[in-house]
Amino acid sequence: TDKTVLMDSEGIRRALTRISHEIVEKNKGVENIVLVGIRTRGVPIAERLAANIEKIEGQKPPVGVLDITLYRDDLSTLAYQPIVRPTELPVDITGKTVVLVDDVLYTGRTIRAALDAIIDNGRPKTIQLAVLIDRGHRELPIRADFVGKNVPTSSKEAISVQLQSTDEAEQVMLREI
Ligand code: 5GP
Ligand code: MG
Repeated sequence: TDKTVLMDSEGIRRALTRISHEIVEKNKGVENIVLVGIRTRGVPIAERLAANIEKIEGQKPPVGVLDITLYRDDLSTLAYQPIVRPTELPVDITGKTVVLVDDVLYTGRTIRAALDAIIDNGRPKTIQLAVLIDRGHRELPIRADFVGKNVPTSSKEAISVQLQSTDEAEQVMLREI
């Protein structure tokens, strides 16, 4: 199948460096920030952003994890439904700025489920969204505050995100399904 490399390891590193600076700038520091990564690859991305932010500001924001699985209900004609596993966040998020982190933003349904889960855990002051790739095709009124790369895709294409910590490779590719 056809594959195009969209980002190599340096490209990923630079995008995450830029997003880290943007998060700090938009929020005027790191004081009230909690990063929440969406499993699987949102988590290592959130951890890298936290490490970058510590280098910039001298303080590391806490990183929480949300486990959201997409499943298709074969008995219905509905598209994939996101299911959130029960989650404990590492800190009280009330009054905080929560930055959700995922690898790829597509329909927005996963983020909608993540917003529900976050709001169930407390009352944040603001929720923001950081993604490595925005591949378009939104089905809900959801957008990212911080984007590594916008990649217009067709429905016959998907994004393959490989990160050293989970995949022993480091690149983003566009591939035919
Ligand atoms: P959603 O449609 O809810 O925005 O995206 C569903 C989930 O699947 C998200 O966690 C997103 O990261 C992932 N996802 C959607 N499209 C792609 C893709 O093309 N490549 C990868 N690696 N993940 C995707
Ligand atoms: Mg995902």
